[in-house]
Amino acid sequence: MRSNSVKNDYKALPAKYRRFYDMVAAVIPPSQLLIDPFKTLAFGSDASFYRLIPKIIIKTTRSDDISHILRTASQLTIPVTFRAAGTSLSGQAVTDSILVLLAGAWKKYTIHDNGERITLEPGVIGAEANRYLAPFGRKIGPDPASINSCMIGGIAANNASGMCCGTAQNSYKTVESMKIIFADGTMLDTGDHASRRSFKESRKELIKELENIRNEINGDRGLRDRIAHKYLIKNTTGYSINAFLDYSDSIDIILHLLIGSEGTLGFNAEITYKTVAEHTHKASALIIFPDIASACRATIILKKQPVAAVELMDRASLRSVENKPGLPPFLKSLSQEAAALLVETRADDPAALREQTTTVRNSLASLPTVFPVSFTDKKEEYENLWDVRRGLFPAVGGARKIGTTVIIEDVAFPIESLADATVELEHLMRLHGYAEGIIFGHALDGNLHFVFTQDFGLPEEVRRYQRFMDDVAAMVVQKYDGSLKGEHGTGRNMAPFVELEWGEKAYGLMRRIKKAFDPLNVLNPDVMLSANPTVHLENLKPLPQTHDLVDQCIECGFCEIKCPSRNITMTPRQRIILQREISRLKTTHEDAMRLGRLEEDYVYQGEQTCAVDGLCSTACPVSINTGELTKRLRSLKNTARGVRIAQWITDHYPLTLAGMRAALKTANAVHAIIGTPLMSGLAKGIRALSLNRVPLWTPSMPKGISSPKFNTLMTGSDRKVVYFPSCIVRTMGPAKSDNDQRPVFEAMLSVLVKADYDVLFPKAMERLCCGLAFESKGLFSQAAKMSKELEEAVLECSNNGEYPILCDTSPCLSRMRTAFTSKLKLYEPVEFIHTFLMDRLDFRRAPETVALHVTCSSTKMGLAEKFWAVAEACAEKVVIPAKVGCCGFAGDRGFTHPELNASALADLKPSLPADCRRGYSNSRTCEIGLSHHSGIPYQSIVHLVDKNTSGKLPPPSGFPQGDRKPII
Ligand SMILES: Cc1cc2nc3c(=O)[nH]c(=O)nc-3n(C[C@H](O)[C@H](O)[C@H](O)COP(=O)(O)OP(=O)(O)OC[C@H]3O[C@@H](n4cnc5c(N)ncnc54)[C@H](O)[C@@H]3O)c2cc1C
Repeated sequence: MRSNSVKNDYKALPAKYRRFYDMVAAVIPPSQLLIDPFKTLAFGSDASFYRLIPKIIIKTTRSDDISHILRTASQLTIPVTFRAAGTSLSGQAVTDSILVLLAGAWKKYTIHDNGERITLEPGVIGAEANRYLAPFGRKIGPDPASINSCMIGGIAANNASGMCCGTAQNSYKTVESMKIIFADGTMLDTGDHASRRSFKESRKELIKELENIRNEINGDRGLRDRIAHKYLIKNTTGYSINAFLDYSDSIDIILHLLIGSEGTLGFNAEITYKTVAEHTHKASALIIFPDIASACRATIILKKQPVAAVELMDRASLRSVENKPGLPPFLKSLSQEAAALLVETRADDPAALREQTTTVRNSLASLPTVFPVSFTDKKEEYENLWDVRRGLFPAVGGARKIGTTVIIEDVAFPIESLADATVELEHLMRLHGYAEGIIFGHALDGNLHFVFTQDFGLPEEVRRYQRFMDDVAAMVVQKYDGSLKGEHGTGRNMAPFVELEWGEKAYGLMRRIKKAFDPLNVLNPDVMLSANPTVHLENLKPLPQTHDLVDQCIECGFCEIKCPSRNITMTPRQRIILQREISRLKTTHEDAMRLGRLEEDYVYQGEQTCAVDGLCSTACPVSINTGELTKRLRSLKNTARGVRIAQWITDHYPLTLAGMRAALKTANAVHAIIGTPLMSGLAKGIRALSLNRVPLWTPSMPKGISSPKFNTLMTGSDRKVVYFPSCIVRTMGPAKSDNDQRPVFEAMLSVLVKADYDVLFPKAMERLCCGLAFESKGLFSQAAKMSKELEEAVLECSNNGEYPILCDTSPCLSRMRTAFTSKLKLYEPVEFIHTFLMDRLDFRRAPETVALHVTCSSTKMGLAEKFWAVAEACAEKVVIPAKVGCCGFAGDRGFTHPELNASALADLKPSLPADCRRGYSNSRTCEIGLSHHSGIPYQSIVHLVDKNTSGKLPPPSGFPQGDRKPII
C-alpha cells in the first residue's frame, strides 16, 4: 500500500483509535495492523446477514499480543471482537471497532493418551483436528456442518454442534481445560493448579461474584429446575449458566461459561478436549413417512435406539433437492404431506452394525412408512443420502433472487413437541410470505433449522422479517419453552430475545456474569446481551448484484481455507465482497474517490494474486468458482496490444516454444557456468531492477529441451493410446537437481511401451496447445482457437474417439475436458495408469518415503484417491501434507508473483518427514515451485511409476530384450 494512503488512513481514524493504534504498534509489528479501507471492508463480513466495518484489524500470533491488545482496549474502552474462520451465522464475528484475527496462526496441537485427549490452539480447523486424531480412531466431540472450515476458537466460543454430537459431545461436555485471557489482559490456565490458585487470589472480585451467583441459583429451586430443563435440548441462547449447576469450583464454572460465550467473556488461547470414538462402520437409511407427525413420533422412538444421527426433512426440503443427480427418483412422486428421516447408525465392526440396523428397523415396525425401511452400509450410497441433507441450505441459497439474503434460523423444541412445532413453523412461514422456506434439522435433539430468503433492501421487507421473528420467538418460547438458538450462537441476531427466552431472573444473572468478567464492556458488545432492542435489525448486509458468476455467493467463507492467496492478499469471499462494493459504487455514483481506490487496490490484491485454480468451488456450498470471475475481470482489462501479441503467439506457436526452449537453455548454461548462489543473486537483482517485470529464476527451474520429434510407435499391440505431451512438457525438461534427467514424455513413453501400448501422436504437434495459459489470462478467443485445433487433431488421431487420449499434464487435461465438445476418452496420467496399467505392469514398492502433491485440477476431477493408490503401489510410504492445498504456481504466476507460491507452500517443508527425499505430482510448472519450497525435487508421478515397474509381457517385436526405449 502506498505510504501516503497509510498516513491518510491513519489520520482518518478517530483520535481514540489513533491512540490505540500507536499503543498496539509499539508491541505488534505494523505489518500486522490493517487500517486501509480495502482490507477493513474485506473483513467486514462473517457468514451472517450483518456487516460492520472494523476500524483496525490485528493479525495476532501470540498470547502476549492478545493480553496487550485487551489491556489497551480496556484502558481506552474500545471494543474488541475475535474472529476465527468467520463462518458464524448470528453476527457474532463482526465489529465496527477492533477485529482480532486468528486466521493463518494459532495452529499448534498436542495429542495425549493415545488420542483420548487433544490440546488445540484456536486457529486449528475442526477437520484438521479430526485428521490428527484419525489414526487413533478418535475425533473431537463437536461436529458442526461447517467443520471443514471453522476453527476451534469459533467452535468452542459458539458451543457449535452438529448432526451427531447432540448435547452429550459438544464443547461444553467435552472440554477439559483452557488457557483464557481476560479483558484486563490477565491469563488463567484452568488445567494448571498454580494458575488456578493464583487466579483465585488475584481476581477475588470476579470469583466472589461467581460464587454468589452459584449460591443464588442453588438456593432457588425454581431457577435450578428451569436451567436444568432448558439444557435437556440444544441451547445456545445466552450464557452457559448450567455451569453453575454442574460445577461448584469457581474455576470450573469459568471454564464452562467460556464455552458458548462468543468472545464476550475472554479469549480462548488454548483448549484441551476429551475426544470421542470415531466408529469405522456406518449404515444409513432414508426413511419416508406419510406425514411429519409420524416422522416426529419415529424420532421419539429412535432416541432410545443405537443411532448416531436422525435428521428430519420436511416436504419442501425434499422438493428443493429432488433434481440433484444421484438422488432417488421416488422423491419427486411423494405426496404433499410426506416427510423424511435420515438415520445413521455406527459400530466398531460389521456384525455389530448389522445387529444395530435390525434393532432400529424393528423399533419402527409399528409406524407407517411409505417404503420399507432399508439401510445401506455402502459408503458411496450413504454419502449420496447425506448429500441430500447437506445440499438443503445451498439449494435455497443457490436458488434465491439476486440481492436477497439467505437466512438460516436455528430453534430447538422439547422432542415431544417436535411434530406440532414443525407444523406451526410451516404455518408461520406461509403466513409471513416465506412460502419458499424449508425446515430440516437434528431431530434427536429437537433442533430445527428453517431456511428462507429475505430482501433487506426495502424497509417494508425489514419490517416483515421483524414481524416474522417476533412471532417465531413468541411461539418457540411461550408455547413450547424451546430455544431460540440451538447451535449457531446468540450473536446480535437473538441478543434482544435472550430475556424473553430466559425470563427476568436468569437474564439478570447473565448480565451480572458479563459485568463481572468484562466490567467495561469491551469484549464484543451487543453480542449475546444487548440493551438495544433492534440490534438484530441494524447493520444488515447489502448484497448488490455484481457478476453472474458470483451473485449467488452467501459469504459463508467455506472457500477461504482452499485459497492459496488467503495469507497474503484476499480470499474468494473477500474478492466477492469487494466486487459487490465496487459494483454498488459504480451504480450509485456515491463516492468516486473511494471507488477509484478500491479498483486500484483490487488489481494486485484481488486479481493478480488469484491463482484461478478454482479449488474454492470445491468447498463452496453453491459451487462458485471465483477463479472464473478473475478470468472474466482479466479479459476486460486486456489491452488491444496484449490481445494482438496473444494472437501472434497462437499464430506462431512453434516459434514461441522454440523461444522458450532457447531462454531456458540459456539460463541453464549461465547457471552451469556461474553456479547457483551467483545465479540466484543475479536473477533476483535483474527482477528487482525490472520492477518485478522479469520472471523470477530459481534453482528448480527446468532445463530447456531440444525440439523433440514424436513418431508413432506401432508394435502391433491391440491396445492403442493417443498421447498428447503438453506444450509445457515439450518445452521444460528436468531441473539440474532432479533425480530422473529425462523429460516427462520419455518416462511416459517408457511406461506405455512396457505396458504394451501402441502410441499415436496427433499431427503437427508443435502447433498444439490446450489453450489453458490463454484462458487463465482472460484471452478467451485465443484459448478457444488453440483448444479447437487440439480437439480436431486428437479427434482424428483417435479414430474419432475410439482410442483413449492421454495428456501428461493434469491442468491441461482438465482444460481439454471442459473445452472439447466431442465425446472423447480423455485421461491424465494418474487416471490412465490407475484405469489401464495397474494389471499390465509389475509394481515394486520401493523402501522409500515419497511426497505427493495432488494438483487442483486432479482434485477437482476427483483423482486424489487414485493418485494415492498409484503412488502406494510404487513406494512403501506415501505422504500428502494435509496443510498444503493449491500450490499457487498457477501456470506462470509462480514466475511473475513468486510470493503467492511462497505463501501457499509455507507449510510444505515443515510437513515433510525427514526421510522423504522425492516428491511427485502431475504438472510440470507446479513441480517447479514444489521443488523450490520443499528442498526436495518434485517430478511427474510418471517418473515414479517408470522407476518402480516392469512389463509383464515379453518385449514387443522390434524392441529387443533390454531395449524397451521407444524411438523419439
Ligand atoms: C453453511 C453453514 C453451516 C453451518 N453449520 C453449523 C452447524 O451445523 N452447527 C453449528 O453449531 N454451527 C454451524 N454453522 C455456524 C458456524 O460455522 C459455527 O458456529 C462455527 O463453529 C464458527 O466457527 P468460526 O471459526 O467460523 O468462528 P467465528 O465465526 O470466527 O467466531 C465465532 C465466535 O467465536 C468468537 N471467537 C473466535 N475465536 C475465539 C477465541 N479464540 N476466543 C474467544 N472467542 C473467540 C468470535 O468472536 C465469535 O463470537 C454453520 C455455518 C454455515 C455458514
